[in-house]
Amino acid sequence: MYGALKEYLTAELQSIEDAGLCKRERIITSSQSAEIEVGGKTVLNFCANNYLGLSNSPRIIEAAKRAMDTHGFGMSSVRFICGTQDIHRELEAAVSKYFGTEGTILYAACFDANGGVFEPLFSEEDAIISDALNHASIIDGIRLSKARRYRYANADMNELENCLKEAQAQRFRIIVTDGVFSMDGNVAPMDRICELAEKYGALVMVDECHSAGVVGKTGRGVNELFNVYGRIDIHTGTLGKAFGGGIGGFTTGRREIIDLLRQRSRPYLFSNSIPPAIAGASLEVYRMLEESNELHSALVENIEYFRSKMLVAGFDIKPTQSAICAVMLYDAKLSQDFASGMLDEGIYVTGFYYPVVPKDQARIRVQLSAAHNRTHLDKCINAFIKINRQLRR
Ligand SMILES: *Cc1c(COP(=O)(O)O)cnc(C)c1O
Repeated sequence: MYGALKEYLTAELQSIEDAGLCKRERIITSSQSAEIEVGGKTVLNFCANNYLGLSNSPRIIEAAKRAMDTHGFGMSSVRFICGTQDIHRELEAAVSKYFGTEGTILYAACFDANGGVFEPLFSEEDAIISDALNHASIIDGIRLSKARRYRYANADMNELENCLKEAQAQRFRIIVTDGVFSMDGNVAPMDRICELAEKYGALVMVDECHSAGVVGKTGRGVNELFNVYGRIDIHTGTLGKAFGGGIGGFTTGRREIIDLLRQRSRPYLFSNSIPPAIAGASLEVYRMLEESNELHSALVENIEYFRSKMLVAGFDIKPTQSAICAVMLYDAKLSQDFASGMLDEGIYVTGFYYPVVPKDQARIRVQLSAAHNRTHLDKCINAFIKINRQLRR
C-alpha cells in the first residue's frame, strides 16, 4: 500500500519545494540565548520568544535541577491518576497570582490549553467569535467544539460588533483573541473588546502567549495594560516563551471554568503531566518576577531603543507595544535576501512572506529580549542599515 502514498507524498514535498515554501531548520549547537552558535558561527539571536531572557538563566537551570533532585524526572501519569505533585499545585497558584485570576490549570503546552478549552464549555447552542488572525491552536480548538463560529477581521471592532449582534440568538457567546498578534506585534484592543462583550452579553478569552511577561507596566499582560482586571473570563498562556521558554501551558481565569476543565478537558485528562523540572523551574520564574521588575524593565528599554533607532534610520516599522517588531519590506524576495544578508552579518532574524503574511506584506520580524545588551542592539541596527543599502541601491 505504501507505494501509492509514497508517490503522492513525494509530489507534495516537491511542490512545497518548488513554491519556495520549504521550512529548513538551522541547527543550534549552543544554549538558547542572545548569542547562539549556528553552523559553527556565533550569531546574535533576534528570532526567539525569549522575551525575558530566561531560557538560559542560571537561576532557572538551578531550580530545574533542584526539582529533579527532590521530585524526580518524570510523572508517568496524567494529573488525575497520580500525576499531581505539590509543585504542580504551587505553580497553578503562582500563575493565578501573577495574572490576578481565580484559578489555573496546567497543560503540556498552550497548544493543548487552546485545544481543550472550547469543547467542554460550549455546544451547538453557543457562539464562538474569533479574530481572523488568531493562532492555529485556537482555530483547531474551535473546530473541536460544536458551537456556531463567527470570524471578524483582525482587531476590527465594527465587524466584531456585527458578529455579536448576529450571535444574540445563541445561548452563550465568547469573544476569542490573541493578546499580541505574532506577525505585526499589535495588541488586541482589550478595553473595547470588554466593552462590546458587556454590551452584548459575551464572555472574553485572550491568548497571552506573546503578551504575558511583555505588555503592561510590569509585564502582567493585557489585564494590566488595559486595566481590565476581572473583565476577562479566560486567559491561556505558555511557559514556552517569556516564562523560561521550556515547555508547558495553562488556562487561567474564573474558578468554575477551571474546575470544569479539570473534569472534562481532553488534553488535560488524557496527556502526561508536565515534568517536575519544568514545574520547579517555572515556580522560580514567577518568584523572580514577583521579587523584581528588572527583566521586564530591561526588555521595555530594549524595545524602545531598537524602535527609535530603526525609525530614525528610516525603516518602516509596524506600530507595536509588544516585543515583536515588524520591519516592513513588502517584497517577498527582498525579505529573503535581506534575512540571508543579515545572517552573513551575524544577525539571526526571519523573513516572512505570503502565505504566512498577506501578499505584498513581506517583512523581517525582529523579537527583542531582556537578554540583549546595547552592543547587540547596535550591531543589529547597523546590519539593517548596511544590508538595506546593499539591497535597495
Ligand atoms: C506559541 C503560541 C501558542 C502555542 O504555545 P505552546 O506552549 O508552544 O504550545 C499558542 N498561541 C499563541 C498565540 C502562540 O504564540
